[in-house]
Amino acid sequence: MTDFAGLRAVVTGGASGIGLAAATLLAARGAEVVVFDLKPDVPPPLVGIAADVSDDSSVRDAVSAAALKLGGIDILVNNAGIGAQGTVAGNEDEEWHRVLDVNVVGIARVTRATLPYLRRSSAAAIVNTCSIAATAGLPNRALYSASKGAVLALTMAMAADHVREGIRVNCVNPGTADTPWVGRLLDVATDPAAERAALEARQPLGRLVSADEVALAIAYLASPLAGSTTGTALAVDGGMQNLRLPAA
Ligand code: NAD
Repeated sequence: MTDFAGLRAVVTGGASGIGLAAATLLAARGAEVVVFDLKPDVPPPLVGIAADVSDDSSVRDAVSAAALKLGGIDILVNNAGIGAQGTVAGNEDEEWHRVLDVNVVGIARVTRATLPYLRRSSAAAIVNTCSIAATAGLPNRALYSASKGAVLALTMAMAADHVREGIRVNCVNPGTADTPWVGRLLDVATDPAAERAALEARQPLGRLVSADEVALAIAYLASPLAGSTTGTALAVDGGMQNLRLPAA
């Protein structure tokens, strides 16, 4: 893995799960990292700044504070996201607006505020956390899947818009990743252990993806090692997206 010494990164939703793993990895490799989160309790050397990606003035204040603290921004990881269960029949407009505002418009907001700094960087990269839900057709996830489909399309559009400015834009598509998010879903199951076993059995690799594995993919795409890679989605999904196994 490359050295991030001298590079300055912002990771949204970086106080938990995939975001925390990515922020920790970037810092371990030498980057200076600021985490944006609703409750930005992060261990040093990470620096936490309270920010709500669904609130434009909060985002603008946080980006200014991060740029001041870091002296610039080279890497933006748009990772903050929230889940939603249900079919189209099950989610009212209010829920659609709430989730799209965080998962999709949140990326646009943070990127818009960060672009002036990225334009001044010679190693500018954006990595969005998308999901295999963007294309997989997962049941009972209509709103969440639509939000991640939009993140995939937004990633490609942003890559095209900013490629001539030297800003690379890619996304990672995690499968089911073992984070507090999945822990919360399992906690409300009737039999969490059985639910977890069933979830693992559905994975072609037979286990959940780890947050650290997704973080490695994020770090790769954010790094100069991926200097010729823009407008791509990298799946870290244990084979969920592409493999078709016979029933056990
Ligand atoms: P997580 O719940 O552990 O972490 C998400 C973080 O985002 C939390 O710290 C939360 O406070 C923060 N956040 C939420 N809303 C925010 C807001 N409005 N402003 C700022 N921060 C906010 O979840 P995770 O599993 O690490 O998920 C991270 C990303 O990965 C999400 O975009 C999610 O959609 C995506 N993802 C997760 C999985 C999975 O199975 N865990 C699979 C595919 C994609």
